[in-house]
Amino acid sequence: MPKTSKTYDLLAIGAGPAGAAAAYWAAKRGADVVAVEKQTFPREKTCGDGLTPRAVKELTDMGLADSLSQCHRHVGLRVRAHDKVMELPWPSHPVYPDFGYVVRRRELDDLLAQHALGAGAEIRFGCEAVKPLFEAESSADAALPADAPAPPLLGARIKDKASGELIDLRARCVIVADGANSRFGRALGCQRNRELAQGMAIRTYFQSPAHDDPWIESALDIKDRQGNSLPGYGWIFPLGDGSINAGIGLLSTFRDYKNVNTSWLMDEWAHALPDFWQINPESPDIAPVGGRLPMGGSVAPKAGPNWLVAGDAAGTINPFNGEGIDYAYETGRAAAGFALDWLGSSSGQAQLQDNYQTWLADTYGLYFKVGQLFAKAIGRPEFIHRLTQVGMKSQTLMEWALRIMANMLRPNELGPAEAAYAAMKGIARLSRN
Ligand SMILES: Cc1cc2nc3c(=O)[nH]c(=O)nc-3n(C[C@H](O)[C@H](O)[C@H](O)COP(=O)(O)OP(=O)(O)OC[C@H]3O[C@@H](n4cnc5c(N)ncnc54)[C@H](O)[C@@H]3O)c2cc1C
Repeated sequence: MPKTSKTYDLLAIGAGPAGAAAAYWAAKRGADVVAVEKQTFPREKTCGDGLTPRAVKELTDMGLADSLSQCHRHVGLRVRAHDKVMELPWPSHPVYPDFGYVVRRRELDDLLAQHALGAGAEIRFGCEAVKPLFEAESSADAALPADAPAPPLLGARIKDKASGELIDLRARCVIVADGANSRFGRALGCQRNRELAQGMAIRTYFQSPAHDDPWIESALDIKDRQGNSLPGYGWIFPLGDGSINAGIGLLSTFRDYKNVNTSWLMDEWAHALPDFWQINPESPDIAPVGGRLPMGGSVAPKAGPNWLVAGDAAGTINPFNGEGIDYAYETGRAAAGFALDWLGSSSGQAQLQDNYQTWLADTYGLYFKVGQLFAKAIGRPEFIHRLTQVGMKSQTLMEWALRIMANMLRPNELGPAEAAYAAMKGIARLSRN
């Protein structure tokens, strides 16, 4: 028989960016919060390791500015396409800083998890949430009927991977933050809308003399060794520790998506890396590893009676550029806030779901919709080819594009980027999805 725990205020499933941010913010408010994490930290996480200004803002709000200042800082994005190179500084913004960092996820996620522990959260590492515990059947052995709305949760059954012990961890509210594959979310009925784009990416590390370059880099028209165009865009993010993170991503809107072998793609990209980085493409530091990028808010539902979904589990990666760490921090923080407000109020469960889903829709809804349309359009190689050809003729145009793609539009200013985005929003409002 599994042991039963005390009843916590909040349980986070996963202690990656979304779960650890939720745990940190809940602990800061004095809540009794526990996160369960199936891995022991520090652990590797497949990622580009790029922190944009939005992510830096969230980490700063959590009190990690000093720790971050030890990491490799960058001032903007260098874009390469059609034999041209452009350096685009991060745009100025009233809320977000004009710099970012590149930090290995092994270090970054451990930093935040330790910080959440320091704030008073409990984190159970090496413990996997193996099934939701529903109020209706606390032994949790009955399967939910198909399409039935998920009932309230009692918590989760967890398995301590070292001892094999099973524990029924109880909580008044649960935040599902178990990442792109989100088995726990799926057990609650959350599903990705397959009509919407998702991404796929693969990365590795190389030693490079340019490891401390102050720009992160993106290549928008990559060719294989035979000179044929490769689907997707490549990145090179310098870590400042002797190495660079190099990877390539592509979207499911690309017509041959399912047939693309990402290991082959990574190998071709390694051989196409600009000479500037002086890498040996035959000697990556580790074998390349890939992963999925659920984007544009493509997972639903994002809330149930007493549970909320955050980060990749909710599909919150930005479809314009594949960044998801910042959105995981933001949604983890918001989910914790809504959960605790609700626990402290006398309002019903419908109110919790409504408040969180309304916030998500107001904060990201239209932006993600525009991003999904963009993802659909650039799935056509000839379109992206033409777009980048035009873009690379104008530094100003590319600076606007960066402001839009990094989601750094200024709410109360109507600059050219905001005007261009407003036009795209108009189109998105009229679209079906
Ligand atoms: C190749 C690649 C490159 C990327 N590059 C970037 C980038 O440069 N910048 C950027 O911003 N984003 C990038 N992303 C996206 C980014 O990695 C994700 O958006 C981000 O990690 C989401 O955070 P999360 O907390 O939602 O999920 P995760 O980071 O996946 O964390 C989920 C955690 O939950 C744990 N977990 C899962 N299931 C359970 C369970 N049942 N019980 C207990 N614990 C569980 C996992 O071990 C994990 O630690 C990239 C993604 C990929 C695949």
